[in-house]
Amino acid sequence: MRFVDFLFHTSYSLGMERESKGLAIVIRSTKIRERDRLLTLFSPSLGIINVLSYGARKSIRCVKAPLYTEGNFSLEKGRSGIVLKDIDVISTHDAISEDLDKSQAAMLFSDLVLTSRSAEPELYALFASALDALEDESFEKVTVEFIVHFLSFEGLSGDFSICPVCGRAYGEKEVLGFSSSEGVPVCHDCDTMDGALLLPPNARAYLKRSLELSFSDSLSLVVSDEQEHRIFRYLLRTLPFSFPGKLKSLEYGIWKI
Ligand SMILES: [Zn+2]
Repeated sequence: MRFVDFLFHTSYSLGMERESKGLAIVIRSTKIRERDRLLTLFSPSLGIINVLSYGARKSIRCVKAPLYTEGNFSLEKGRSGIVLKDIDVISTHDAISEDLDKSQAAMLFSDLVLTSRSAEPELYALFASALDALEDESFEKVTVEFIVHFLSFEGLSGDFSICPVCGRAYGEKEVLGFSSSEGVPVCHDCDTMDGALLLPPNARAYLKRSLELSFSDSLSLVVSDEQEHRIFRYLLRTLPFSFPGKLKSLEYGIWKI
């Protein structure tokens, strides 16, 4: 699709008023032409929309909207698409762009949202809270809790009490295997990965407890750095099986997993 068609298509399908305003986060930002950018906004009221952001020039006022800026966005429907007019900034999440791991985490969260094509207000709340949390908390902890809560929201999280394949209740000390076809942890007998993705009982208890808590509350769960790193790696390795979409942020990202 040519760029102009793409913009037209987006604004046409949106059915937006000529001017509108809404809470949103810049979830993707692509440079187009010399000075302009195409922003993808994630908004609880407007959904996921593409917006043109003009760079500085004589006739147009330039509105700065770096990646992961959250604010109230004023938009206007123009001839070539929706144009960003102004933002009342809530946060620019500067700490994310200043750190490679935090950036990689935010990229993965954005990738999951964009690939799932979900734009429900509950998912917006999770995404916005995760960006806020990335500024102060360890990126591994925030990533673990985002993945756990995102998969749960999408109806893709496993069961940490009963094997979903054979229906047997797990023993307290049982180490779980993984089913590549189901995309979830399973009992030893139903494992299809020859023990390549094992989930020990303490890590399982942590994931089970996380699921019972809200995203924000789950961040206060206490776990050693070493254990957190193991759970982080486990979730990144199982995510391609649990989540049906292709995640470029992981494939081409900086994390070796
Ligand atoms: Zn089983």
